[in-house]
Amino acid sequence: MKTLDKCPVCAESSFDPFLTCKDYTSSGKVFDIVKCQSCGFTFTNPRPEVKDLWQYYKSEEYISHTDSNKGSLNRLYQLVRKYTLLKKLQLVVKLIGRPGLKHPLTLLDIGCGTGAFLAVCKNAGFSCTGIEPDPDARNLAIKNSWSNVMDETELGNLQPGSFNLISLWHVLEHVPDLNQRIEQVKELLMPTGRVIIAVPNRNSYDAKLYQEFWAAYDLPRHLYHFTPDTIRAIFEKHKMVVDQILPMRFDSFYVSLLSEKYRTGKLNYIKAIYTGIKSNISAIRSGNEFSSQIYILKKI
Ligand SMILES: [Zn+2]
Repeated sequence: MKTLDKCPVCAESSFDPFLTCKDYTSSGKVFDIVKCQSCGFTFTNPRPEVKDLWQYYKSEEYISHTDSNKGSLNRLYQLVRKYTLLKKLQLVVKLIGRPGLKHPLTLLDIGCGTGAFLAVCKNAGFSCTGIEPDPDARNLAIKNSWSNVMDETELGNLQPGSFNLISLWHVLEHVPDLNQRIEQVKELLMPTGRVIIAVPNRNSYDAKLYQEFWAAYDLPRHLYHFTPDTIRAIFEKHKMVVDQILPMRFDSFYVSLLSEKYRTGKLNYIKAIYTGIKSNISAIRSGNEFSSQIYILKKI
C-alpha cells in the first residue's frame, strides 16, 4: 500500500478521517478516505501500489470495460449508454463545432474503454485518438472505433497542442498521478481547445444518503472523490478554468441502484428510481450538485 503524505490539490499534509468503505465489486477489502484539513479535498489513503491496482479491476461485476449483455443491470446500463453516447456527441459538436473537409477537428479520449464514444465521434467525422491502459479493452476499442488507440505510456509521445477536444469520461478519479495527468492534458490541448471531465460528485444527495455504501466511492479504484470546488482548485493550479458545469442525470439512478444493493444485498429498482429522482431534484435546487457532473475546462 502507498500512503500520500501531501494533499494532491494544496500540498498540505494534515488530514482527517472521512469514510471507511468496502470494495463491493472485487476484493471485499476495506479502504479509507481522508479529507485535507486545509482545502477539503477527499482522497483514498492509503491506496494500493500502482503495480497492484490492476487486480482490483478484474471482476465480473465491473462492467465499464466490457460489452457483456448478461443480467438486467447490464441491460439497463447498455440501454442508457446508447442514449448518453448521442448526448455526448451533441455536446462535443456544441463545444467545438462539426468537422468538415476544410475544417478537421481532432479529439483525444483518455480512458476510452471499449471505444464506444470514439466510434460515434469517428462516424461523425472527427479525427479520433484513444488512450486505454487495459489491453483487452484497447483491442476492442481499435475494432469498434477504427481509431488509433494506444496505451497510456504513449500519452507523452503525442504532439503537444494538437487536440481540439480532450475527454476523460469517469477517468480522472482513477489516475494515480493526478497532477501529472492534468499537466499532460493541458500540454496536448490547442490554445482554444476544450477539455471534458466527467466525475462523481460526493456533495450530491445520493452520496450523502448512502455514505459508505455510495457506489461512486468505488474503492480502491476511485483514488479521488471530487466536488465542484476541488475540481476548480486543482485545475486552477494548472492554469485552467471551469467554463461550464453540466449534469449527468442518469448517474443518480444507476449509482443509487448499486448503492442500494451494497447496503441491503438486494436490487431494488423502485427505491433506486425514487432516490435518483430525489437526487436530481435536490441538485436542481442546490445548483449543480448532481450525482455525477461534466466539467468543461479551458486554458486561462
Ligand atoms: Zn488540500
